[in-house]
Amino acid sequence: MKIATWNLKQAVAPKKPLPVLWKYAEEKIEADVVVFTEAKVPKEGVPAGWTAVWKPDGIGERRRWGTVIAARNGYELVDVTNGVSGRGGFSITHTWPGTVVITDVVKDGECVATVVGLYGITMDLKGNSIGSGLIAVPSILVSLEELYTSSRGVKLIIAGDFNLWPVDMPDFLCESFIDVVGATAELRGPLAGCSGCDVVPEECGHMWTHKNGNSPNAAVQNLDYIFISGHFAELVVDVYGGVGDFPDAWDMSDHAPVVLELET
Ligand SMILES: [Zn+2]
Repeated sequence: MKIATWNLKQAVAPKKPLPVLWKYAEEKIEADVVVFTEAKVPKEGVPAGWTAVWKPDGIGERRRWGTVIAARNGYELVDVTNGVSGRGGFSITHTWPGTVVITDVVKDGECVATVVGLYGITMDLKGNSIGSGLIAVPSILVSLEELYTSSRGVKLIIAGDFNLWPVDMPDFLCESFIDVVGATAELRGPLAGCSGCDVVPEECGHMWTHKNGNSPNAAVQNLDYIFISGHFAELVVDVYGGVGDFPDAWDMSDHAPVVLELET
């Protein structure tokens, strides 16, 4: 299974139409499952071959976009965003509905993973803009507490645009889950100019996933992540992404995808 996370932000250049972005996910990322953040489904509907789960009105009146989990190639999605009742279930309270989408991923009748698509909205709890996910991400992680300890916690993947530099990642996440990019740093060279890196430069294997404006001095940022539970540790086949692996990413969005290939 190839799972990717990609931010489709259409409010900034290059402002590609949604069908073009979904096509890119299909043909270039070649993903089976994608967490799209700051995203929408095309107005014509979910493109042929895909199935998707999202909150249709987005995050709110001023934000008609949100997190979308999409799948294809025989992978089916079961929406568990609002929890599951009964034994083995979990409950959840959403502080920013539309930022977090949770689905079971089912292949041939078997649940192969539960995926949390997360967008670290750049706000504090009063709705003031703070320019990072420093408040949202820890707050969302706490809201998922029952999910971690439920039966779905065993095969959990948390992916999305966290709007956080590596150094700002909550300790809880790094201690309880595996950051697939950090864990496979040796596959890549150090990322020159890596903003907020959490390791010494020689050990950095981060990806440039966000282009912060068009200035040649724009900050080189790794803001998009995939975390996996221990169950998947031995099943990782490959991890790649950023503009290094998707050289045309900036022609599509101000974010580049991160991709995890798992043996499932
Ligand atoms: Zn780094």
